[in-house]
Amino acid sequence: MDLTKWRRCQKERLVAGLCLQCGKVYVQSPHRTCLDCRKKKRKRRQRLYDGRLSKGLCPVCGRKRNEDDTIYCSLCRERQGQHKQQHPDRRKYRHRVRRKHRREGLCTSCGRGRDEEGFLECSRCRQRARNNYRERMSVLASLQSDRK
Ligand SMILES: [Zn+2]
Ligand SMILES: [Zn+2]
Ligand SMILES: [Zn+2]
Repeated sequence: MDLTKWRRCQKERLVAGLCLQCGKVYVQSPHRTCLDCRKKKRKRRQRLYDGRLSKGLCPVCGRKRNEDDTIYCSLCRERQGQHKQQHPDRRKYRHRVRRKHRREGLCTSCGRGRDEEGFLECSRCRQRARNNYRERMSVLASLQSDRK
């Protein structure tokens, strides 16, 4: 498979909610791969990590370490520091915001006022969710017809 084809395939899987790795299993966000593939990947990464660590290399990138007080090379250490600053527990934060919106009777997606009774989200967000769903279903259908 060439690269553009591969990219298209990945995008279709993403939209359809299929595992990006094996393409067989439907996965729920926020994960883009199925449990099996995630497990395998974790194992592979762990092996790589351990191997590098035992050789005295930076476990993240495999480069030489230049400081003794850390297991990471200076570059990776810096990168990790930045990463933490940029994402101060985003999932927890989003969860909290949703709860707050819910309590205050606002759209749990965007925080604007709800404009329809009986729904947790505003009509705009519900429309968007419906569109996403429709797109996903059509991609799924085309994937299935491809397979025949
Ligand atoms: Zn998979
Ligand atoms: Zn490194
Ligand atoms: Zn909304």
